[in-house]
Amino acid sequence: MVERIFNFAPGPAVLPLPVLEEARDALLSLGDSGIGVMEHSHRGGPFDEVIASAEADCRELAGVGDDHAVLFLQGGASSQFYMLPANLLPEGGTADYVLTGSWSKKAAKEARLYGDVHVAASSEDRDFAYVPDVAALQFSDRPAYLHFTSNNTIVGTQWKQEPTPPDGAFLACDACSDALSRPLDISRYGIYYAGAQKNLGPSGVTLVILRRDLLERTERELPTMLRYATHAEQGSRYNTPPTFGIYVMGRIFRWLLDQGGLAEAERRNQEKAATVYDAIDEAAFYQPAADADSRSLMNVTFRTPSPDLDARFVAEAEAAGLSGLKGHRSVGGMRASIYNAFPAEGCRVLAQFMKDFAASHG
Ligand SMILES: *Cc1c(COP(=O)(O)O)cnc(C)c1O
Repeated sequence: MVERIFNFAPGPAVLPLPVLEEARDALLSLGDSGIGVMEHSHRGGPFDEVIASAEADCRELAGVGDDHAVLFLQGGASSQFYMLPANLLPEGGTADYVLTGSWSKKAAKEARLYGDVHVAASSEDRDFAYVPDVAALQFSDRPAYLHFTSNNTIVGTQWKQEPTPPDGAFLACDACSDALSRPLDISRYGIYYAGAQKNLGPSGVTLVILRRDLLERTERELPTMLRYATHAEQGSRYNTPPTFGIYVMGRIFRWLLDQGGLAEAERRNQEKAATVYDAIDEAAFYQPAADADSRSLMNVTFRTPSPDLDARFVAEAEAAGLSGLKGHRSVGGMRASIYNAFPAEGCRVLAQFMKDFAASHG
């Protein structure tokens, strides 16, 4: 078998090896059913169990109570950019958005199709290198909700703490690139959504955790598939859901629980990120792309003194078995994506590579 290498890709991204091994077996037979997980009916008994345990484990892991529905949808986080305002931004209403990167701008753009968007804060003045101070947000008069992007995958910034929406508004979070990577108080959120392919599983399934009282509020006539209520009422099985993705996501929830839950995930993620940030800070050779107080634990971004050296860094790293380190084209430099499933050993190997590279090219 080909040996696995360290995969720093931003998404789809590395998955936990024990989960992949379990999924490999389940491809041929789910349990002792003699039928592979992808071949089971989405309405049969074995899949009933798959989806029920995925939901139960998600609830246990993230502390999700009865006030919230857990939905498994399709269309990625990008479809939530329009589904959220289509369902929950009233005609003539306003939603407040915090702009901290190109994903938040894309989210705000879709909301403008349905109502007014008020920018509560933006860090575009410095190319999104920081996350605004929660105390500095300027709300509109009566927003329906406040939307923010908890982790900015491209520049590599992350909110340390979620903002608090004004009275009467609910909190909406695009958590695509740091979902369930640290403890959270889900009762503070109206909606929390993420495509699975960064922290939670394979591409093709989107986790949406939605406060149930919002389901009654559907603000306009929408096609059946676009209504949150459809999916909540039908247990995410109005139509054929992404069964394999739901299975893998469920196994990842279980893996996270077995590892010690979100507190332990955060501890590991902090330790992994510190390994790489220390390597950046130790050598004047590297410049971080994000401000120190806004650094992401998920996407660590940095540059060498020149684009030429950046390209050499990426090529030599690739040759050393460190894959996927090229930064996003809008930022340049390097980006190490080290989500929940990324092993600590890979961060240590990268840090050593960075020291050696600085020594030989500095
Ligand atoms: C990757 C990403 C998205 C887009 O996710 P899709 O599931 O591909 O639609 C949205 N927001 C953030 C923060 C992301 O990192």
